[in-house]
Amino acid sequence: MEQNRNDSPLNNGPKKPGDGKPKGNIWVTLIIAVAAVLLISSVYNAINDSQYTQTTWSDFRTAFESDNLAEVEIQYDRVIYLTKEQAALPAAQQKACYTGLPGSYSQMELADELYNMGVTVNRVIVEDNSTITLILSYAVMIGIMFLLMNMLTKRMGGEGMMGGFGKSKAKVYMEKQTGVTFKDVAGQDEAKESLQEIIDFLHNPQKYTEIGAKLPKGALLVGSPGTGKTLLAKAVAGEANVPFFSISGSDFVEMFVGMGASRVRDLFQQAQKVAPCIIFIDEIDAVGRTRDSRMGSNSEQEQTLNQLLNEIDGFEPSKGIVCLAATNRPEILDKALLRPGRFDRRIIVDRPNLQGRLDTLKVHTRKIKLSEDVDLKKIAQATAGAVGADLANLVNEAALRAVRQGRKAVNQEDLLVSFETVIAGTEKKNTVLTDTEKRLVAYHEVGHALAAALEKHSQPVSKITIVPHTSGALGYTMQMPEEEKFLNTAEELMTELKTLLGGRAAESVVFGVKTTGASNDIQRATGLARNMVALYGMSDELGLMAPANVSNQYLDGQAYMDCSQETSARVDAAVQRLLNEAYEQAKQTLITNRALLDEISLYLLAKETITGDELMAYVNADRKQLPEGTVEA
Ligand code: ADP
Ligand code: ZN
Repeated sequence: MEQNRNDSPLNNGPKKPGDGKPKGNIWVTLIIAVAAVLLISSVYNAINDSQYTQTTWSDFRTAFESDNLAEVEIQYDRVIYLTKEQAALPAAQQKACYTGLPGSYSQMELADELYNMGVTVNRVIVEDNSTITLILSYAVMIGIMFLLMNMLTKRMGGEGMMGGFGKSKAKVYMEKQTGVTFKDVAGQDEAKESLQEIIDFLHNPQKYTEIGAKLPKGALLVGSPGTGKTLLAKAVAGEANVPFFSISGSDFVEMFVGMGASRVRDLFQQAQKVAPCIIFIDEIDAVGRTRDSRMGSNSEQEQTLNQLLNEIDGFEPSKGIVCLAATNRPEILDKALLRPGRFDRRIIVDRPNLQGRLDTLKVHTRKIKLSEDVDLKKIAQATAGAVGADLANLVNEAALRAVRQGRKAVNQEDLLVSFETVIAGTEKKNTVLTDTEKRLVAYHEVGHALAAALEKHSQPVSKITIVPHTSGALGYTMQMPEEEKFLNTAEELMTELKTLLGGRAAESVVFGVKTTGASNDIQRATGLARNMVALYGMSDELGLMAPANVSNQYLDGQAYMDCSQETSARVDAAVQRLLNEAYEQAKQTLITNRALLDEISLYLLAKETITGDELMAYVNADRKQLPEGTVEA
């Protein structure tokens, strides 16, 4: 590449005969590009293969027939296997063998044969390997190389040309046994119950067909990312002891036209051969979004979706194939997907509640050494809103921290610190605030804390800090509920509004300024006030009317307005009044308790982080003084 670069300026001036025309240069570049592609791919293959011993197909057959196979992985054009002798060696010394897969053999046939003999098949990668695709991908690669080199020659720089290339392969994975059961999925009892029937059906389809019952072909798992949808689908396969096929909708997005559809066809063909089985389609919204509502709708997506619908309609449910799909945005799915006989069942996979979080923590700490002081319940209480994936991550971070500090077991502090890393972002000690900013942040946070602490309907404050976090927060006040609540009274919500607006109130009372730091508080307060008015019937103005529609509320808590414009304006006015009221109350509280506000803010400035107990010590001391009338302004 360097050479080409140096050559190019010379092209402008007179040079050796034959080299003067730019055309010649293009051919040279093209040839170099082809050579480079071939070189790269052969080096890549060599590296890839060197970890295995090459053998022939008949070696493999011999090992198979003499029952000498321990494990097998079937790839799209070859088979990797471990003989029983090799498997008996320590892991570091094991060397697997590989052999090409004869063209006449289908991967699934081979997999079937192996299963029947009881050989462990780790994975089957079913991938389109037709020569056309191969040639096509070479052609594209050469084209890109060519462009790249041409650009370099012209000194235009070729950054980013390779970006995203090679991503366009939708892989279908099959696992004979997922090894996951319902025991590995904490909480989610309702989802499990709904899935139980599917498991029963996979065990015993006749029971259902004899009676003449129509069986579900598919179910849609709906829930936020990380709530365990994939895990549940695997657990269904594990419980029913059937193979698990999986593919992700987002893999289809970058494919050539027609490829998505053929992948879907392949997938269902493979599945029918090994039925009963589970097909899992993750992120189905990537292919299944409404077809007509978007400009310039994508024909690739449409073809893939049509193929998917055909396949689902085509297979006989009595064969025992169940299609599970996952999404966090069911509202954008094409209606055709949700018709009876397709994904007509909807299983909600919710964010876990207190018990669910506790159970998830228990599942993930099963194999972790915990020291005596660990109280998982406290962690579960502190992690309201976290999903299973967050909790799994939290436990792992805690274990890593324990190792870093040279300990043999995870203690409570590890868990608490990781909680902050995972949920709030890591402490960002190098963000430098000016002294004025620091004072503002301290008063702001203590404003929140006092608005909460001085109320009887509030959740106790557990921590206040003015150490900036990577999440962008310059400080935060953490409240920890004593127990999980399912019902809130209007008073409690009003207190929450006051607490949220307490930060801004403190800025205003003490400094007479308004800062941008309160923006998130204000958004949350507005959302809460809107729900109080439009959903919970808690305002005088609208009374018991609920002008918002809540049909999709379980997802992101997003309700949308479903009322006339006049009503909508009245809702806005009522929201405004609630917010003003809460804000004025918060300001009043802080003005009355100004001495306490100053005292705690100064303490926080000095210590940067204080606990809820320290806060309450100040508050209680102040309350004792009250009857003596010694509070100063
Ligand atoms: P989704 O498919 O909903 O995005 P996943 O199933 O991929 O979420 O979950 C990611 C990881 O989070 C899982 O592998 C598991 O470790 C953890 N996890 C999520 N939910 C649970 C749960 N209910 N119980 C135990 N672990 C869970
Ligand atoms: Zn705030």
